[in-house]
This record gives sequence, structure tokens and C-alpha cells, in this order.
Amino acid sequence: MAIIPINIKEGTLKLEEYIVGIDLGTTNSLVAIIDRLTGKPIAIAGHNAEVIVPSIVYLNPNGEILIGHQAKPFLLNDPANTIFSVKRLMGKTYSDVDTNGSVLGYKLIDDNSESLIKIKSGGKFYTPIELSAFILKELKNRAEKQLGAKIVKAVITVPAYFNDAQRQATRDAGKLADLDVLRIVNEPTAASLAYGLGLDPSETKTIAVYDLGGGTFDISILKIHQGIFEVLSTHGNTQLGGDDFDNAIVRHWLDIYIELREEAQMHSLILQKLRLLAEEAKKHLSSAMNFETDLIIEKMSISLKLSRLDFEKLIKPLVDQTIASCKHAMKDASLSHSEIDEIIMVGGSTRIQFVQDEVKQFFNKSVLNTSLNPDEVVALGAAVEADILAGNRKDILLVDVTPLSLGIETLGSLMDVIIPRNSKVPQRAARQYTTSVDGQSTLRICIYQGERDNISHNRKLGEFFLSGIPGMPAGMPKIEITFMLDADGILKVRAKELRSQVEQHIEVKPQYGLSDKELEQMLLDSLVHAKEDMSYRSLKEAITEAQNLCYATQNFIKKNKEELSEFELEKTGIYIEHLKTAISIEDKDQILKAHDELNDFTKSYAERLMDKAIVMALKGKTIEDN
Ligand code: AMP
Repeated sequence: MAIIPINIKEGTLKLEEYIVGIDLGTTNSLVAIIDRLTGKPIAIAGHNAEVIVPSIVYLNPNGEILIGHQAKPFLLNDPANTIFSVKRLMGKTYSDVDTNGSVLGYKLIDDNSESLIKIKSGGKFYTPIELSAFILKELKNRAEKQLGAKIVKAVITVPAYFNDAQRQATRDAGKLADLDVLRIVNEPTAASLAYGLGLDPSETKTIAVYDLGGGTFDISILKIHQGIFEVLSTHGNTQLGGDDFDNAIVRHWLDIYIELREEAQMHSLILQKLRLLAEEAKKHLSSAMNFETDLIIEKMSISLKLSRLDFEKLIKPLVDQTIASCKHAMKDASLSHSEIDEIIMVGGSTRIQFVQDEVKQFFNKSVLNTSLNPDEVVALGAAVEADILAGNRKDILLVDVTPLSLGIETLGSLMDVIIPRNSKVPQRAARQYTTSVDGQSTLRICIYQGERDNISHNRKLGEFFLSGIPGMPAGMPKIEITFMLDADGILKVRAKELRSQVEQHIEVKPQYGLSDKELEQMLLDSLVHAKEDMSYRSLKEAITEAQNLCYATQNFIKKNKEELSEFELEKTGIYIEHLKTAISIEDKDQILKAHDELNDFTKSYAERLMDKAIVMALKGKTIEDN
């Protein structure tokens, strides 16, 4: 049923503003809104009464583009032009997905000039952003038709482990679909919101979100405190889901029905048919104990059977893998089972009783949050977030935190953190820097993400140059670097020389994907290497300081040669050489010793010259005038 808002006073159709919540999934996508009558989130159905839009795009060579259910049949009939699982490619380069590429029916293109991946179909190239935009447009059209309103604003969900590049790509897809993306929300956060968790600012809870869909599995452990959702840990498997259960059933049938195996080897279509029947059996067994159907192929009819017990035996090794991931996530979050308050079940495969039982057993809980439709729960939560952003729930403020520190490279390849990890998002922070060389007119600013002191162990997000700095002695320019991390976790960096107001900025669109595994590894590494990092940092800082002292002393001598004795010049030269040798062998103790020697020796005459300069200045003269 279409909901058409009418402005009774004016007797006109009232074009109300709706902000929709969108779950842009790997296999399926959905759009949801808050029902004005009940105040509850609802998923919006299409003309076929289905709320799910399969995330499939068919690019017909004649130029027509089909989405969702209409595109699905072409997975078999025209796989080269039928794009599925495009979410896996968002914000990624060819090398990121090299291994995956082979299982996709369509062609990936690496044209070398573009670092981001492209997909070839019918002589044209498409980016994952464009393809996702087709799906978003379909969802937008569906919502507009059903609501009789124009949709311009949306909240879109992404997995908790999506990095900046993947979030930015999702945001860009929204833009391309003519949607103003107000916020990118983590999927487990959205699922929690759908269950009303996090809406009460006085509530503190630790929850687990177990998300088992058609092709992927994710477990996320979140802490909710004062409306802030902190992702404590995530784990999962991007190649594990309900499709694997279907395949296990197919293999089982091929094992026990020999005649079927022989037929299947000759006709590949039989396998497709079997896969569909396997899915039917699986779904049936979520509520029944036995499944039976007749498969008719050419001259024979086979009665296919499967009991729930057999099914459970078949999927046990796969479900065990998800439980192993849960174990990992709990360990990473340093939590015991008793500290988990709720377990939210997301994804169609969590309808399977055996899956629910195993999860209950692992977390030692008698109940799970399963009252909402597991296919819809993420979209419903996105709609709740949209409602909050629309200002309809003024008491609630949703905040996320940034999982890794953000900073820039400073002298000595050191990471200088500007926004520390776990800072609330949105966040703005600034720091002042200066130049290290006289007359330096350009400064290179390299942005990194990570926890290590040596930037080579962190992840480079981008770089830019602040050029046009007016000629000034080293140390004079005041360069302010500001990091602005918006609510979606997208970073804008601005560099400004405050004396001259010269300014430059970039929006960081990192080119390489960062998986949840890598993220965890980066955090783990920072702990393991903490001691080593500290000594690296102190050595690099000592080197930088020593280099600055050499540079400043040499400059001073050049300018004030006439004022210094032979002895002072000679001895200073020797001390500079000592210091340079210590720097070259990177021996921190020697550097510090040589640094102090040079500093102590030059101090006496530096003070003498300084005093003289002051006297001269009082007389209105400079030393050079003398
Ligand atoms: P999702 O990716 O969350 O949409 O989940 C889709 C997966 O859920 C597919 O593998 C479906 O076969 C599976 N699924 C949907 N309904 C059921 C059900 N009643 N029992 C078991 N699996 C189901």
C-alpha cells in the first residue's frame, strides 16, 4: 500500500521530507523508513510485495539496466554482464581483490592509470561506485513511489570494518544516486538501534551482533555507553554464509544419489536446479523436521530427502567456523561471556535453529534477540538513525569512535598523532608545525593511520603539499594542520601558514582497502612492539634534534665568523664532526653526548654575541653594520 501524505489545509498533496535508511548489502539491499503512524521502522516493499532487492545489476548490451529480481535470472543466462557482490569491490584496487576476481562471472579491469578497480561490461567500464548507485537509485525510486514523496536524504549502512576508502566510495555512490548521504552507519550499530539499544543515554551495555547472511559472516562486539557505540572488536569470514549451506546439501545429494551425480556431470543446469532445491530444503527445515521433493529430470524422477538432523550434521563444520570467529572477537575485546548483555541476530541464515542453538551455547545465554526480521534489521536500524537525524528524537545523540589513530609524518619518519584512536566522531583537532630549513617554501604533508611510532608500519592515507610559504628563517613559519573527521569517518586535512594565510587542503580518499583482520593486526602490533617503538622514537627524536643543532650552529658560524676566535671556530668544527659521526651510526647515547658537548661549547660564545647584539641594538646598530 502506498502511503500518500495529504496537506488537508491546502487540499494538496503534501511533499513531506523523508530521510530513508538503506542497507546496501553484498547479496541483498533494502530501504526503510519510520512509519509516521506507529513510530516504528518499516521496510518498504516494491510492487511485488518483496522488501528485498537482490544486489544484482544486469547491464544489457542494448543499454537497458535491470536491478534486483529482474536482474537475477541473468546470473545464469548472461553472467559476463550481470554484476553481483559489488560491495566486495567498493573502494578497492585490482590487487586488493586479485584472488577474488576469479570467482566472479564478470570481468575486472585494471587499466593502470586508475588505481581503483573497474568492471567491464559490453565494451564499457563501470566503477563499483556507479554500480552501487544503480542499486541505490532503485531503492530511492521504490521509496518515492510508495511514499509519494521525493527522497533526497539517506542514511546508508556499511560493515564495521569498512575503512575510509570504502566508506567514501559508499558515500559517493549515494551522491551519484542523487542522495544526500547524511550519515554512514556501522551495520551492527544499526542492528542494535533497531532493537532500541543505545537510545537511552543512561544505558551501558555490551552486545554481540552475529550476522550470518548468504555469503558473508561477521561478528561484532560493541559497547554502548551514553549513546556512543564503540566497536570493541570485529571478526568474520567474507566467504562464508547460507550459500555454503546450500552447497553442502547439494554435495550430500550428489553423494547419495549416484544416478543424479552422473546426470549432473553431463548437464550443468541440473546443478543450478539442485542448488535452488537445496535452498528450499534448508528454509523448510528451519520450521519442519523433514524435507522431501521429487526432482524430475528428463527420463527420471528422483525423490530427494533431507532430515533436519542430517542437515545439522552437514552444516556443523561451517557453523563451527562462525563460533571460532566469535571466540576470536571475544578474546580481542578481552571480555568473558558473562559480560555480554545481549546478542543480536542479523541475516537470513540466523533463522536456522541449529545456528541459534550453537550461538546460545557459546555465549551461555538462554535467549537471543531474534524478534525482528533478520533480513530487515539493519535497514530498520538505519531508518531509526535517519529519524534521529531528522530531529524527531531530540534527546538522542549518536556517536561513533575512530578505530585507529590519525596523524602526519614528522622528521625522522615519526608518526605524530593528531586524532588519537577511540576519539569520538565527529572530531576536529589541530597542531602547529614549522619548517626545518631556512627559506623553505614548500611543506609535504603525509597523512597516516595507525598506532606505530615509525610511519612505515602504519597505513598511508594520502599526501599533499603546502606551497607558496613566503621565505622565512627555519622555525619562523607557523603551520597549523587541522584534521576534521566527519561523522562517517571521512577525513579532511587542512594546512595553513598562519603568518601569510597560505592554505591548502585535501579530503582523504585512501586507495587501499583495510580488512578487519588487518585492522586488528595493526592494533595488536602496536602493543607487541610498544617497547621497540619507544626506543625508535627516542633515537629519531635525538637525531632530529642533533641535525637541527648542526644546522643552526653552521648557520650561526657563517653569519658571525668575524666575531669568533680561531680556537672557537676549530673546536666547533670538531664537535660538529663528532655529532655528525654519531648521527650516521645512529647511536643514541653517542648522539646525546656529542649534542651536549657541542651545545655546551657554543653556548658561551653564543651568549657573548647575543649580549653584544643587544647592546648594539640598543645603540641602534646591528652586528653586521659594525
Ligand atoms: P541475507 O544475505 O541476510 O539476505 O541472507 C540470505 C541467506 O539467508 C540466504 O542464504 C538464504 O538462503 C538464507 N535464508 C533465508 N531464509 C532462511 C530460512 N528460513 N532458513 C534458513 N536460511 C534462510
